[in-house]
Amino acid sequence: MEQHNVVIIGSGPAGYTAAIYAARADLKPIMYVGLQPGGQLTTTTEVDNFPGYPQGVDGNAMMEDLKNQAERFGTDVRWGMISSVVFSDTPGGFHTLTVDEGMQIQAQSVIIATGATAKYLGLPSEEKFMGHGVSACAVCDGFFYKGQNVVIVGGGDTAAEEASYLAKLCPKVTMLVRKGELRASKAMQNRIMNTANIEVRWHTETVELLGDQGVEAVKVRNLQTGVEDVIEASGFFVAIGHKPNTDIFKGQLEMDEVGYLQIQLGSTKTRKPGVFAAGDVADKVYRQAISAAGTGCMAALDAERYLAEFH
Ligand code: NDP
Repeated sequence: MEQHNVVIIGSGPAGYTAAIYAARADLKPIMYVGLQPGGQLTTTTEVDNFPGYPQGVDGNAMMEDLKNQAERFGTDVRWGMISSVVFSDTPGGFHTLTVDEGMQIQAQSVIIATGATAKYLGLPSEEKFMGHGVSACAVCDGFFYKGQNVVIVGGGDTAAEEASYLAKLCPKVTMLVRKGELRASKAMQNRIMNTANIEVRWHTETVELLGDQGVEAVKVRNLQTGVEDVIEASGFFVAIGHKPNTDIFKGQLEMDEVGYLQIQLGSTKTRKPGVFAAGDVADKVYRQAISAAGTGCMAALDAERYLAEFH
């Protein structure tokens, strides 16, 4: 069986940054790119908020740059998905990873950078306008709707934060909440209620998105009265939660109730020796490419220090 210093699971900004650092430390990292090579950024168009790209950068192009940088220092980037893991409890012991339900490999340290997946409503029109008016990240895409009316779905902290972010850019933000209350924290609720250009529509669901090349309006229905209405908007933001990609770690690593990995404060360490987590898989608060890249760097440095004890 192959034995390695470090295997990185996932190929978003966290995974590639970990790979760059681990490769430059001569750890000869192996990366498995997973089901969505390049991660969530490959589903957006322009990335405008990653430092170092004054003109913005296409999400796919940026991930290709990160991949080339990781490979330049010797990262072995492999197609494939880690389908199961058996983590060792022994310090310095080898962890066993199964690739695509077949081949097994071992690594003394593992960096988990499997990310999270934004939840969508599942409407056909939502899929049709993905990247053309539909977004799951206001901080990433809100700027493209400056001066235009937008709609946001959800009543949690993410929706509330994103609505208040959008309200600074857009003349009118309509928030669609399916219940008669917000799940967001009291402080965020107050902010929403005290922002003049945010209108909350209670007991309201999305019927479909209307438009030709992109979103032009949102058809909604009041769940109590059944009355339908059309709201003119060119942006439709979905903020109904994320699902961290942690199913294969269940029972082996500590997670919160939603499945985000728990790491020790100020580090990327999980409770298993030599197993580190970086990026959105362990971060439900910030969820940005740059913060994921930062924790990817931390994970590689943590792995390097860990491995130094056993070599
Ligand atoms: P949440 O799960 O907290 O909220 C999801 C919201 O979306 C709820 O209002 C829910 O409605 C609604 N929703 C879910 N599915 C649908 C659907 N199909 N149609 C319409 N509405 C739907 O997710 P968040 O992403 O907001 O937050 C996740 C966690 O991260 C929370 O613990 C939150 O506190 C935390 N967080 C913290 C932040 C901070 O501290 N700054 C910032 C952002 C998030 P319903 O209430 O009816 O179920």
